[in-house]
Amino acid sequence: MSEPDIDTLTEDEAKAELARLARVIAHHDRLYNQEDAPEITDAEYDALRARNAAIEARFPALRRADSPSLRVGAPAAQGFAKRAHGAPMLSLANAFSAEEFSRFFDTARRFLGRDAPFSLVAEPKIDGLSLSLTYEAGALVAATTRGDGAVGEDVTDNARVIDAVPQSLRPPFPARIEIRGEIFMAKADFLALNDAETAAGRRGFANPRNAAAGSLRQLDPRVTAGRRLGLFAYALGDVSQPVADSHWQYLQRLRDWGFSVNPYSERLTDEAEAAAFQAGIAERRGGLAYDIDGVVYKIDDLALQRRLGFAGREPRWAIAWKFPAEQAMTVLRQIDVQVGRTGALTPVAILAPVNVGGVLVTRATLHNEDEIARLDLREGDTVRIERAGDVIPRVLGMIPDLRPPGTAPFHLPDHCPACGSAAMRPPNEVVRRCTGGLICPAQRQERLVHFVSRGAFDIDGLGERSLAELQACGLIKSPADIFRLHAHEADIAAREGWGTVSARNLVHGIEARRTLPLARFIYALGIRRVGANTAKLLARHYRTIDAWRAAMREATIIGSDARLALGNILGIGPAIATELADFFIEPRNIALLDDLLREVRVSPDDFVASASRLAGKTLVFTGTLTHMTRPEAKARAEALGARVTESVTGKTDFVVVGADAGSKARRAAELGVAILSEEAWLDLARNEA
Ligand SMILES: [Zn+2]
Repeated sequence: MSEPDIDTLTEDEAKAELARLARVIAHHDRLYNQEDAPEITDAEYDALRARNAAIEARFPALRRADSPSLRVGAPAAQGFAKRAHGAPMLSLANAFSAEEFSRFFDTARRFLGRDAPFSLVAEPKIDGLSLSLTYEAGALVAATTRGDGAVGEDVTDNARVIDAVPQSLRPPFPARIEIRGEIFMAKADFLALNDAETAAGRRGFANPRNAAAGSLRQLDPRVTAGRRLGLFAYALGDVSQPVADSHWQYLQRLRDWGFSVNPYSERLTDEAEAAAFQAGIAERRGGLAYDIDGVVYKIDDLALQRRLGFAGREPRWAIAWKFPAEQAMTVLRQIDVQVGRTGALTPVAILAPVNVGGVLVTRATLHNEDEIARLDLREGDTVRIERAGDVIPRVLGMIPDLRPPGTAPFHLPDHCPACGSAAMRPPNEVVRRCTGGLICPAQRQERLVHFVSRGAFDIDGLGERSLAELQACGLIKSPADIFRLHAHEADIAAREGWGTVSARNLVHGIEARRTLPLARFIYALGIRRVGANTAKLLARHYRTIDAWRAAMREATIIGSDARLALGNILGIGPAIATELADFFIEPRNIALLDDLLREVRVSPDDFVASASRLAGKTLVFTGTLTHMTRPEAKARAEALGARVTESVTGKTDFVVVGADAGSKARRAAELGVAILSEEAWLDLARNEA
């Protein structure tokens, strides 16, 4: 179905369309959050929200009170305010066995002077963090963390950007109600977030619960909005009027108001059913999308709950039956180093196999070298490990008394175990990274995907999957191999899923890119910190591939003129200069470049300014300029195709002399280099622009 163009909408049409979008987006929110059954892709969902925002931008007066765009909060100014809970948020008694479980309900029966068993509601215990949501007249007015149970932190702004938190209740609803639930992060989202965090050089989260807590307790709600958080509602706090007779009924009301309730929740007619339920959930546990650490059993009848009340801070009517302890001791046999797709070196503990809560564990994460140093872990140590939720077991610490003699502290290697390139850890980063880039087999796939991507070689028909496939069958080992694929056209055509047409299209797509501009070529190499803009600056400054390569080779020497000149290019700076030098210092990168340049032709960049009289000229500024700052003058000269250098040499074309010029002006005179006054330079720049 094609949607009407936003620019041609009448006011009435826009109004109708906004109403439709509010309804449709709410519908998809419900499917996604409540029923775990989205009907549309994330991209389609984002497109709906974008369309809503665009129409609102054109007709600001038509923005609806329930507009999806209002669900984005403003950044909080400072730390979290404290807020008291209407009814306290309690903790639960724990049971670790069937006996403890039975004893708990026997006590409740004695308390009530009752013989009959209880009907219970069983709910998987989500390993997240509890949140209390206050609604007034159906609208969310406050979100508060558990805190000490009486007073928590005000995280309302953040709750407003979490799609799983209903911003309003579907009627009918009581005038005022506190609804409690668990905020959590799905295991897959946690792993993706940690990948992104470590790729960015930051420390990841230890487990999904920490990730959820860290995401909710953000001072900047925009960070919260970028994280995918779920919510299962399960408890009632303070309420202005009774809303249900039983907990089971309350769960149904929660669904009616628009909350997700855990789909595995069940009503048990008798306590005797609990053991089977517990076993069933324990079996399911590994396959759930989120972490659970047990099952909560509540007496269903709310009148009985009121009569039972509390013992201290624990209700007498609910208990958490936890899964068996998840810690174990074992021997850390070895610390392996893995190289990730982005070149990050990650230490992994290889353990003597041990059963932890029913799962055989042989490996555990060690995060990074700082963590290993903090725990003083050495190969041969006896360590305590924990299955952090269900996801990745981790090492909690070592037992000093059990350390065998002759152990040595562990250090990450300074060379990549996958390719032997230097592995560097930049200051202020926690991750050590292989500098091998394209020559590192662990990084090759990611690098090749970048190499053929839109801003780089932009090769049609060579996507992530075909790259992986052609690597697996040995046809691509290096970027240059891509340009030799034409010799294997028949082999490719014969592969399953290809055929002559696809193979020919691929070869044509590659041939069409055998020549490309210098900036794209530099960008395609995927040198760290050298993005599309930096590549453009380099191409503009050095102009040809030969000049660039020659300068980079010289720039590998710290303190060389070439290195200083590189770091002085506006927008480059010493950190990028170091990355470039690290790339060119590696002989295998040089070999890779030579190999690639046998296959492709790199054209000088076609800058508009190349026709200017300053194009290709080398300029030096000296003295104090009165009409523009030095960086501005430099940027102007570079935009006109000139190179700006710091020192005056025989190759300098002009020296622009400001006030109080010193030795550079004298040197220019000695060498017979043309000297321009600031005014003359301004005229020249103006006429060229
Ligand atoms: Zn490597």
